[in-house]
Amino acid sequence: MPQSRHLATELPGPRSRALMARKTSAVAGGVGTTVPVFAARAGGGIVEDVDGNRFVDLGSGIAVTTVGASNPAVVAAVQEQVAAFTHTCFMVTPYEPYVAVAEKLNEVTPGDHAKKTALFNSGAEAVENAVKIARHATGRDAVVVFDHAYHGRTNLTMAMTAKAMPYKSGFGPFAGEVYRAPMSYPFRDPEGMTGEQAAARAIAVIEAQVGADQVACVVIEPVQGEGGFIEPAPGFLPALAAWCRQSGALFVADEVQTGVARTGDWFACDREGVVPDLVVVAKGVAGGMPLSAVTGRAELVDAVHTGGLGGTYGGNPVACAAALAALDSVERDGLLQRARAVEALVTGRLHALAARDSRVGDVRGRGAMLAVELVGADGLTPDPALAAAVAGAAKAQGVIVLTCGTHGNVLRFLPPLTISDELLHDAFDVLDAAFAATSTTTASAR
Ligand SMILES: *Cc1c(COP(=O)(O)O)cnc(C)c1O
Repeated sequence: MPQSRHLATELPGPRSRALMARKTSAVAGGVGTTVPVFAARAGGGIVEDVDGNRFVDLGSGIAVTTVGASNPAVVAAVQEQVAAFTHTCFMVTPYEPYVAVAEKLNEVTPGDHAKKTALFNSGAEAVENAVKIARHATGRDAVVVFDHAYHGRTNLTMAMTAKAMPYKSGFGPFAGEVYRAPMSYPFRDPEGMTGEQAAARAIAVIEAQVGADQVACVVIEPVQGEGGFIEPAPGFLPALAAWCRQSGALFVADEVQTGVARTGDWFACDREGVVPDLVVVAKGVAGGMPLSAVTGRAELVDAVHTGGLGGTYGGNPVACAAALAALDSVERDGLLQRARAVEALVTGRLHALAARDSRVGDVRGRGAMLAVELVGADGLTPDPALAAAVAGAAKAQGVIVLTCGTHGNVLRFLPPLTISDELLHDAFDVLDAAFAATSTTTASAR
């Protein structure tokens, strides 16, 4: 697959338009699409559509193809496994790749204590299972989550997710015993608030509104994803983890989006040496195949009775083969270092943009998980229209860019780690032009 951006037709092209008409009449309207083109193939940092247009991919299918789209080692591992067998159900006739993935996750997740792992299909399913384990291990009910949190779309995880539209509106009633605490949000917190102070603010809410002895677990994304790529102030996560230890609550890191090299460490918790009791992994772990995991302290995970965890497809052998290849690629291809190099390149571009465009209120993130928060003339009011306009203009020029944030005013950048510097510069040239081109329209709209 040529690693270059290429526009062969108008966008969307005729084949994509025809497919979109079929999609509109056959597929549930609740399932939206970000880019109105249909994929034909993908490789490295490029997605090619059915009309031959090639897009630079700054989304990785929402942080999934971290090791590169169609990573050759992943493709080979999948082909070999699919030819041997596609399914037996691990709970019926177990197979080695599941065990090998568990061994590898036990090794690379934070902490050197004894660990155990259970495998599932989606991020939401793994979050639910982390809560099951925490409740069983502690004998308590309450689950604490944070403002701007995103944990999925199933019933329990809808309750845990913060944002109403589009994730929750009309889908209640939601699961009970889920409580929300304030997040550390350096861009919007009072000037100079430290991570320790933000943790004290959250802990005060938890102790007053839930009760320290009622909390089964505190579930947190170490860098929030859908909620706006919010990186808490240093000290926030260690202080929360320490409070959990004192209170007998489990500290659960939802590393579904941050995990597996995305932030320049194996896991985002590693940056401050935070060791969670349970870690939830999905998205980037299996090179695009559906797989998720809960990895945690052996005695906590093993508190659950035999048969209490599982599922028909959890730890599917093809997904496990893909995960082994993807996890191997992180080490063999030096992807932790590569994520930090991507951070240096992209933050350089974003700070230069922010210096000449005051609508970029904040540049943040780590590794290849970076974002800009867009604001109005007062430097604070969210500007979702600008985010949509810039993302739209970039897509029209062949760059896939995603938005996020409780107010939809954050542009997030999640390139595959194997993307070249050349492609990144090309994509951010397009973004610079998109910002320049939207200046007049949004200024007059405001
Ligand atoms: C995407 C995501 C989930 C949900 O994962 P699915 O595979 O879509 O169910 C949960 N937590 C975080 C932090 C996520 O980014």
